Amino acid sequence: MTTAVVFNLPGAAGHINPTVGLVSELLARGERVIYYAGEDSRQQFEALGATYRTYSPFFEYQHSAAMAKNLGTAAFMLIEHAECALAGLLEAMEKDRPDYILYDSCCMFGKYIAQRLGIPGICLVTTIISSPLLLLSDPALLGKVIVDVLAISPRVPEARRRLMDLLSAVGLKYRNIIHHGFDLFLNEGDLNIVFLGTAAQPMPKLLNERFKLVGASIPEGRDPPMELPVGWGSTHPLVYVSLGTVHNLKHDFYLQCLEAFGDLPCKVIMSVGKHVDVASLGRIPANFMVRNRVPQLEVLKRAQVFVSHGGMNSINESTYFGVPLVMVPQQLEQAFNARRIRRQGAGLMLKSNKLTPKTLRNAVQTILADGRYKENANRLSRDIRSLGGQLRAADEILGFVHGQARPEIRKTA
Ligand code: UDP
Repeated sequence: MTTAVVFNLPGAAGHINPTVGLVSELLARGERVIYYAGEDSRQQFEALGATYRTYSPFFEYQHSAAMAKNLGTAAFMLIEHAECALAGLLEAMEKDRPDYILYDSCCMFGKYIAQRLGIPGICLVTTIISSPLLLLSDPALLGKVIVDVLAISPRVPEARRRLMDLLSAVGLKYRNIIHHGFDLFLNEGDLNIVFLGTAAQPMPKLLNERFKLVGASIPEGRDPPMELPVGWGSTHPLVYVSLGTVHNLKHDFYLQCLEAFGDLPCKVIMSVGKHVDVASLGRIPANFMVRNRVPQLEVLKRAQVFVSHGGMNSINESTYFGVPLVMVPQQLEQAFNARRIRRQGAGLMLKSNKLTPKTLRNAVQTILADGRYKENANRLSRDIRSLGGQLRAADEILGFVHGQARPEIRKTA
């Protein structure tokens, strides 16, 4: 038995959910797993059999829309996490003696700790891979990134100094701000497990062999079973609406959905997030079921259209089940995801600042009426399912850690 320590981002369901199946698989294969994230995920991982810890007293953090929206804010927050946690976590690791570290791509201290201990550092990428390939493939993203980078440019010398201090503390060399600017949101590891389908990643063939695209992690039993009301799911198409777990405090959006779909011949399940009071939405049409949270995988198994913010997990999960999307992105990464799905013909994209009940209704009706969206979503489903998900992720990790890696992995490790 070997020991894995996993570092993840507290409260970030989009970063944590794909690891549930992986941790479960590693435990099933006899690994010992110590998992770090926020208090809200404790129960889920303890139930699997992992040892669970939070980052208290090093830092307190809860993933939020403000943090996810601006690259500069996010970059300095990630640096601060590493500064606050590095020494204390290294001390804890001396007692735990992990054989390898698995870390979310936003947890740079995971990479640094692995480096310092001289053990494999394996990055878990649950969003887009931060690299110049993204900007080359999508001019709209490039434009937004330039705006964000210009806004934080006065603080670049400070970022450089703080990164140099962190790197020297673990014996790594500073390269240049462009390299570290991208790597802040990737933290490329000795091995990189990427929970994406090939359609979501621009120019996947240009990634080096340490990147393993494993598709979506959809373990059976991640979500509790869900009973639909009698007659739902058989007579009418099912539309699912969710803006995910971060950018979901959007009262007006939910009201627009109620108006858009309230008199359509379809059933609608709408997840509004834990902070929206369902009663505050007023009269709920009879064809709607509105909840603060739903078992999304169970809903997607039955849905015909997903009206989504375009979060990476939502896109992965939707395409896994061959469900076309209407995407209303709330931030730049989601807009990037949405443009890629639109290009694949598996969905439509609407701008949140120009949204009306009519545009929403038209988009859903278009997808229901034109079978090509479903065909394309099914094509993406075949691709993403072929990549192996959490089972392949566990194979790659254990192969790498125990030295049974395939030759192309060994060459670069
Ligand atoms: N999710 C869920 N039930 C809900 C809403 C969301 O299970 O009612 C899950 C969903 O399956 C996905 C995650 O929360 O795994 C959302 O991740 P995503 O990357 O799509 O968006 P984020 O929340 O990070 O913006």
